[in-house]
Amino acid sequence: MPELTREDLATWDANDPLAAFRDKFCRGGDHLIYLDGNSLGRPPAATRDLVDDVITGQWAGGLTRSYTGWIGLGRRIGDMLGTRLLGAADGEVVLSDSTSVNLYKLASAALLTARDRHFIVYDPADFPTNRYVAQGLAAAYGLGIREVPALPGADFCSRLGAVLGPDAGLVMLSLVDFRSGEMLPMERVNALAAQAGARIVWDLSHAAGVVPVDLGTSGAELAVGCTYKYLNGGPGAPGFLYVRRDLQAVLRQPIWGWLGQRDQFQLGAAYQPAAGIDRFQVGAPPILSMAAVEPGVALCAEAGIEAIRAKSVRLCEVLIGLADRWLAPHGLCVASPRAAAGRGGHVALRGPRTWQLCQALVSAGVICDFRTPDWLRLAPTPLDTRFVDVWDALERLRAILERGEYVRLPATLTRVT
Ligand SMILES: *Cc1c(COP(=O)(O)O)cnc(C)c1O
Repeated sequence: MPELTREDLATWDANDPLAAFRDKFCRGGDHLIYLDGNSLGRPPAATRDLVDDVITGQWAGGLTRSYTGWIGLGRRIGDMLGTRLLGAADGEVVLSDSTSVNLYKLASAALLTARDRHFIVYDPADFPTNRYVAQGLAAAYGLGIREVPALPGADFCSRLGAVLGPDAGLVMLSLVDFRSGEMLPMERVNALAAQAGARIVWDLSHAAGVVPVDLGTSGAELAVGCTYKYLNGGPGAPGFLYVRRDLQAVLRQPIWGWLGQRDQFQLGAAYQPAAGIDRFQVGAPPILSMAAVEPGVALCAEAGIEAIRAKSVRLCEVLIGLADRWLAPHGLCVASPRAAAGRGGHVALRGPRTWQLCQALVSAGVICDFRTPDWLRLAPTPLDTRFVDVWDALERLRAILERGEYVRLPATLTRVT
């Protein structure tokens, strides 16, 4: 096959069925190439107008009267997210709190139903919150931790199988790894956990809005995730949680707040959890941030998650092909799985001095990020990235490597990378 050219990619952009979505996002007045939407998605243009309406119309105009609409907002957006993007049914997903807090709520609820079990299982490479929440729960409940072992050459399921036994009560995993981009086979992992009698909580933060997730048919029980990454909800936007319908009556979350109470405005003396997914809510939702989640979810739903995934796979394949061609000779290598089925929406590169390369690339107008110790992450988000953007970004990276001046940039990490 002849090597791709920039002209080929411009043709792909011209024929891209998702091309029109690019103009539905606000941009600063610059020409930045943004490959960091897996950390913070761009703002949808509709969000600006919506937040203005929430402030001037609903808050200033409606005052407390607006609570009638606000009280159901987390459920309404949760239903759209769940049914359109996550393969859930109505009433199984709600927006609430942060991902970290939701993880704690669901993991704790699951552990309360596994009193005869003695271990929590997690992957030591998982996102810090996930490991810390597990460690905190283990300390509070007097449980042990078992880490999924790193057995070179073994696939994830056999590594997980090695630590799942009759003693494991809870497994906590991310569907897409925040550093490597590896995507786990959800259905097989669910079956393994079920076989061992362990509950499982999935973190979908790096999956929601970029890969199709099939909570309903994959045997998933519990899940949480972010709305500010591929869902473009805005910095610090509330997280979401999923509890399979039949478990909702069985599980009790540990934070007994007024919003999770049945008939809140009866102001009852004792806590009685609401029926259904509502019992997993806690207190007054942050309406400004929560309302801002809807436009991004609506854009993904409108584009269709299958079309988003199809473009994401092509963008990542172009990126990988160019990295092999231009960057690998300089020692900067693709560290994400090469088979699309085992990869989420971003590609990680590893090599020497990647932190300095990251700084040089940002100075060259390509926003990406670095995760210690040596991961450079590039996420070509399908709704706002063109194929030529991937070409241009990698061409700038190649030029930086060739000039070699980046080695003089500071090697010490800044507070935020
Ligand atoms: C981004 C991310 C989070 C973030 O949690 P917050 O509580 O929103 O800070 C959690 N887990 C994973 C896997 C993530 O990628």
